[in-house]
Amino acid sequence: MTVNYLDNLVGVFGSPVAENPTVVMMEAGFRERGLNWKYLTIEVRKGDLEDAIRGLRAFNMRGINLTIPHKIEVLRYLDEVADDARLMGAVNTVRREGSKLIGENTDGKGFLRSLKEDGGTNPAGKKIVLLGAGGAARAIGVELALAGAQYLRIVNRTPARGKELAELINSKTAASAEYIAWDVRFILPEDTDILVNATSIGLFPDIEAKPDIDYRSIRSGMIVCDVIPNPPRTVFLKEAENNGAKTLDGLGMLVYQGTIGFKMWTGVDAPVSEMKEALKQAFGL
Ligand code: NDP
Repeated sequence: MTVNYLDNLVGVFGSPVAENPTVVMMEAGFRERGLNWKYLTIEVRKGDLEDAIRGLRAFNMRGINLTIPHKIEVLRYLDEVADDARLMGAVNTVRREGSKLIGENTDGKGFLRSLKEDGGTNPAGKKIVLLGAGGAARAIGVELALAGAQYLRIVNRTPARGKELAELINSKTAASAEYIAWDVRFILPEDTDILVNATSIGLFPDIEAKPDIDYRSIRSGMIVCDVIPNPPRTVFLKEAENNGAKTLDGLGMLVYQGTIGFKMWTGVDAPVSEMKEALKQAFGL
């Protein structure tokens, strides 16, 4: 057999990026599947992204993940952008097809898969309350709308961002959405099927924080989801459980957005449980 010392290179561009644990998950996947691929964690400062993308092309890299602060700017340097990523205005995964660089967004897809597979819930026809209107919320809101959600109520601290997301969903998808101002102790409408916390409230190290909602308005028929991956069992989810709701943590979304990217790059189904285990270890869980 001919020896081949050439690795297929992928990775992540971000700043700060040193604490991003994706490498652990991806390398576990490559090992498990016996693939000669390498995932590089690369510090690319704001202002250096265009050069970094040129470097990616020159090194013939197979793709890249983008994290803070590059998810929006990267759209300018790509040859094509998937429809849903263009709607969201953000790309977290770039894949190469021949000489073309194609932008995708797997955050919302990861959430959707976790909701369906781990949460046993299809959002089609459902009424949803989405807390937050930042990057994660935009990705989740758009994918839920494209998956046939009936009605989305966007609740956000900053009205302009919340209104913009509701308008985006109304104008570009078949779903309906409205912005609702985040008053003190937001009370959930009675017809809510799915509640999602897509804010950063409760993220490590601020683990005692929880979104300001009236937890007594959570009912047993609802599914309550958090995007916070660390810690997975947030105070928000504990309160929801105490009020009888089914819950879904953010670890599944994190794993699936990575495994969807793994498949896009390698063409091989990702070993989901091994990758999840590796990520849990990286978080010390
Ligand atoms: P952004 O900074 O883009 O958005 C943050 C959101 O949280 C905004 O809606 C912001 O409201 C809201 N927010 C923050 N602090 C408060 C507060 N004190 N009170 C009310 N609202 C608040 O961040 P991202 O969307 O990129 O990330 C959000 C969370 O999602 C993070 O915790 C991140 O870890 C998680 N995430 C998880 C993923 C996963 O795979 N599980 C993937 C991607 C992100 P405002 O608009 O008013 O500022």
